[in-house]
Amino acid sequence: MQQALSILQDTFGYPSFRSPQGEVIDTLVNGGDALLLMSTGGGKSLCYQIPAMIRPGCGIVISPLIALMHDQVAALRQLGIKANFLNSTLSSDEIERIETDLRLGNLDLLYIAPERLIQSRTLELLKTASLSLFAIDEAHCVSQWGHDFRVDYLALNLLHEAFPSVPRIALTATADARTRQEIIENLALKNAKAFVVGFDRPNIQYRITLKTNPRNQLLQFLKKEHPSDAGIVYCLSRKKTEDTAAFLQEQGFNALAYHAGLPTEIRAENQRRFLSEEDVIIVATIAFGMGIDKPDVRFVAHLDLPKTIEAYYQETGRAGRDGNPATAWMVYGFQDVTKLRQMLDGTQGDEQYKRVEQIKLNAMLGFCELTTCRREALLAYFDESAPEHCGNCDTCLYPVETWDGTEAAQKALSVIYRTGQRFGVSHLVDVLLGKSSDKVLQFDHDQLPVFGIGQERSTQSWQSVFRQLVAAGHAVADPERFGGLALTEKCRPLLKGQSRIQFRKDPVQRNNKRLSKTPLPDDIDVGIWEALRAHRRALAESQGVPPYVIFNDRTLQTMVEEMPDSLDAFSQLPGVGARKLEKYGKGFLQVLHQTQS
Ligand code: ADP
Ligand code: ZN
Repeated sequence: MQQALSILQDTFGYPSFRSPQGEVIDTLVNGGDALLLMSTGGGKSLCYQIPAMIRPGCGIVISPLIALMHDQVAALRQLGIKANFLNSTLSSDEIERIETDLRLGNLDLLYIAPERLIQSRTLELLKTASLSLFAIDEAHCVSQWGHDFRVDYLALNLLHEAFPSVPRIALTATADARTRQEIIENLALKNAKAFVVGFDRPNIQYRITLKTNPRNQLLQFLKKEHPSDAGIVYCLSRKKTEDTAAFLQEQGFNALAYHAGLPTEIRAENQRRFLSEEDVIIVATIAFGMGIDKPDVRFVAHLDLPKTIEAYYQETGRAGRDGNPATAWMVYGFQDVTKLRQMLDGTQGDEQYKRVEQIKLNAMLGFCELTTCRREALLAYFDESAPEHCGNCDTCLYPVETWDGTEAAQKALSVIYRTGQRFGVSHLVDVLLGKSSDKVLQFDHDQLPVFGIGQERSTQSWQSVFRQLVAAGHAVADPERFGGLALTEKCRPLLKGQSRIQFRKDPVQRNNKRLSKTPLPDDIDVGIWEALRAHRRALAESQGVPPYVIFNDRTLQTMVEEMPDSLDAFSQLPGVGARKLEKYGKGFLQVLHQTQS
């Protein structure tokens, strides 16, 4: 283990292991298999990189993310690690050279896409080489239950038969119990030692606001809190990503669209710019982001509701991987629910699947309407306990007021029932308010006893009541009736007055308050910071790698705080190992020195 610690300090420049990195490394070094579930940014990569360097032979990393291999390998080479990748972007000459390197034992780590790995040619190649381990990254792709299923991953169970003496580690950040089980079964990992680490991402601030004027709300959010930060904006439709990106461009933001319908070159280019520039906002459908390994994403904004809490967790999890403050911001409204229900109904899946998705969507909706800590609820969803009050989500920062909604709920449920359980919210509100709209007259709803019984509340207030009734499962938006509301079994006690319900008061818009901080502390010297960033950018450009591959924000920030004045002091900064000290120490010290004089 001493050897592992020396590598951590000398090569990676970090003083100590995070839990359970040490144990995972120990397991692999001793030839055992491991399953590692750890939240994004937790530090999974070291867990196979270090054992691959300690054990004889080359470590094979299976990753579905061809687009990222180049940067991952570039980052390792910066540290002096002999890494390479094999994928379809290489010429046959390059492939031959890498294969020779592998046979001759000149590689510490080799990244391979799953579809290439399972070709017989590759397997034959691997049999002629000495291998230290297999690391199966994004292992949830083996689960049919999850949303990133890849058929090639199923074939990976052949590894343990073809290479019984090579230890394997499967890694993922998503794992509800069922996905976890499928990983173990499909990858034959029953004897693997499992390590499960917390899902909490304390540096992410969770905020959800009622959707009123989404574009404008987004604009205010960006202007006030993230005027020049990298971030991701998620939308449901391709068109909306393009429209929103165009709108943000007009407003002076460096925004780019990304969705599966764009030509491959444009997608690749936009992704490249997002990774290599510092202030690009990607406006994307969920086609973007799986495994996006950019550590300095400062915000993830949702203009539409994700379908499940797992998806929400994963998408927001792309923010703040470097551990600095980041914001997960979302606007949502009832139209999201109706839209998602209709989409779900239009999908091919069988009834069982739809039912499961329906339950998941309801959970997501309930999450939006919470009056208690969002982080606590999020962690509870993943069976993890947490303090009741995290202090870094909107409901903790601005406690939500509640009111006894029993009577309002009864009125609302009665209107759904009396009108035949097939009308949408706006019509139901008209009936409650006693409005003689065309539709009300057409269906004679002005003749009903419930007509006009809700005049004590505003339209908005009634909309909020219906939304919260659906979120709490007392009513459903029925896709077969174009999103019209129907009652559920659950509402019975409420309707009969046998139970009571509390509603949240919709908070007033708080756009003016600045809730989250940019990663830079207020008292930092901006001149020095910018000079260091410019130096980093120049180095990155000359080598064709993203800036964070040179040094990440945290290293730069510590540089400004500590102002090292010698190479020895510089070597103490987090993320400065022997190789980077030698390559960059002098240059950065010079920049620090110049800005001071
Ligand atoms: P994951 O793959 O789990 O999302 P990474 O392996 O990319 O996370 O690590 C996230 C960040 O944490 C990286 O910048 C990495 O260098 C850093 N890191 C990992 N382990 C340590 C450690 N023991 N001490 C300090 N920083 C670490
Ligand atoms: Zn909280």
